[in-house]
Amino acid sequence: MAKSPADPAAVHAANLDRAKPLLAKLRADGIGHFIDGKTVPSVSGATFETHSPIDNALLATVARGSAADIDAAAKAAEKAFKPWRDLAPETRKALLHRVADAIEDHADDIAVLECIDTGQAWRFMAKAALRAAENFRFFADRAPEARDGRNMPAGEHWNMSTRVPIGPVGVITPWNTPFMLSTWKIAPALAAGCTVVHKPAEWSPVTADLLVRLAKQAGIPDGVFNTVHGFGEDAGKSLTEHRAIKAIAFVGESSTGSAIMAQGAPTLKRVHFELGGKNPVIVFDDADLERALDAVVFMIYSLNGERCTSSSRLLVQDTIAEKFNVKLAARVRALKVGHPLDPATEIGPLIHARHLAKVVSYFDIARQDGATIAVGGKPHDGPGGGHYVQPTLVTGASATMRVAQEEVFGPFLTVIPFKDEADAIAIANGVEYGLTGYVWTADMGRGLRVSDALEAGMIWVNSENVRHLPTPFGGMKASGIGRDGGDYSFEFYMETKNISLARGTHKIQRLGV
Ligand code: NAD
Repeated sequence: MAKSPADPAAVHAANLDRAKPLLAKLRADGIGHFIDGKTVPSVSGATFETHSPIDNALLATVARGSAADIDAAAKAAEKAFKPWRDLAPETRKALLHRVADAIEDHADDIAVLECIDTGQAWRFMAKAALRAAENFRFFADRAPEARDGRNMPAGEHWNMSTRVPIGPVGVITPWNTPFMLSTWKIAPALAAGCTVVHKPAEWSPVTADLLVRLAKQAGIPDGVFNTVHGFGEDAGKSLTEHRAIKAIAFVGESSTGSAIMAQGAPTLKRVHFELGGKNPVIVFDDADLERALDAVVFMIYSLNGERCTSSSRLLVQDTIAEKFNVKLAARVRALKVGHPLDPATEIGPLIHARHLAKVVSYFDIARQDGATIAVGGKPHDGPGGGHYVQPTLVTGASATMRVAQEEVFGPFLTVIPFKDEADAIAIANGVEYGLTGYVWTADMGRGLRVSDALEAGMIWVNSENVRHLPTPFGGMKASGIGRDGGDYSFEFYMETKNISLARGTHKIQRLGV
């Protein structure tokens, strides 16, 4: 009997079939930089290899950029800036919608390639390209109003503010959900009238190359959007130091953010940082515990836990901690680790052997600090033999332990009990990060009080993370500087200019008469 398309085995097989010719082409062609509308090798001829986290298979040989390649891309972006800036915003809007169309047309290819390059499970990646297309549409629609300012009449003058695009910008992105995430930056930058040099993460170059080529096919003029591959310490560093680049939008680790700030200081770079997190989910004993449980499990074990907004610390009220932990442990034990292209898979392999080693090192750190590994705590022998790890639950932790303080960035949850509201707030705020917070309670007064007290850029009450594009996205403390989303994005990619017009012939002080 023929299997229905919804049958997991049939979907898995279809995903593998879809991947085969894409991978063959990738291996044959390799990945070059994309500068001034053309695919080019590195000036030095240097390359690096990218491998799949599923089985370590070679995916592609990739151009390894350095200062000379960044210089070529920055010059192309500089040359393209004025014509792009001066294009009618309605034309920019139409072009960006065409990029969204191209992404939608290739959404299935993007999904399978992203799974194979990053190890993220298809169930989460299947829609990631569509979300990227949505990012382009959202900012395309706002392109015509990006320059709008305010009227501020005053006494003898009429003041008008307007915004102008800042110039060519650098976008530096990490490897977790790389396609979708890069479009949060690239789409508003282009809509604002900036030109872009993108430096994607060296561990996930595949879909970044696809994105820039789709943009070209959609009609984005040469030089407006360029991509240079390579490592942070050379290509990334050169981008942050280049004189023609006026701003750097960066997503990655907090320590890299510090380095970029120092590298960009001599050229006075404007920076926007989206950095690490150790986000608390606080569950009070009056909460809807079934929904809270669903959200707790989803927000740390989806996307392999390689998610900046993951709730990696569960703060649970001591009155319900035992009962809640038992249910939680059962759910974690039942999570399905497997091949990323299998739609039944909930957790795929981690991005890289080095990242796996980092996550695994926290098992010993937990034990040494006196916490209990209630579930998991070992690498996992998954299909292909890649960088799989068991989803892990750590209980009996105190707020100062390293597993309660440091970002693990894997399927690794630390549970910390608390007594009351004040205790929960103190524990939640007692880390260097401040990206998101999640609060579960039936008492809306408490929900608001706790949200107000949490040191984090984004709080969800009785919800998991649901992104709404007009809202501000970003973190406090070591989690970032600046906000993405809606007009917040344009504030970053544009300069505000005030124009003051004399209404008449007001008195001007006369000197030297
Ligand atoms: P990373 O900081 O190691 O690398 C990110 C990017 O920066 C890569 O492209 C890398 O090549 C580049 N880079 C590294 N050193 C550089 C330098 N000196 N100059 C310029 N560029 C340099 O981060 P990662 O390991 O790729 O990603 C994981 C991190 O990203 C986690 O900390 C995670 O929380 C964070 N993240 C944050 C958000 C957010 O929105 N706050 C979203 C996703 C990921």
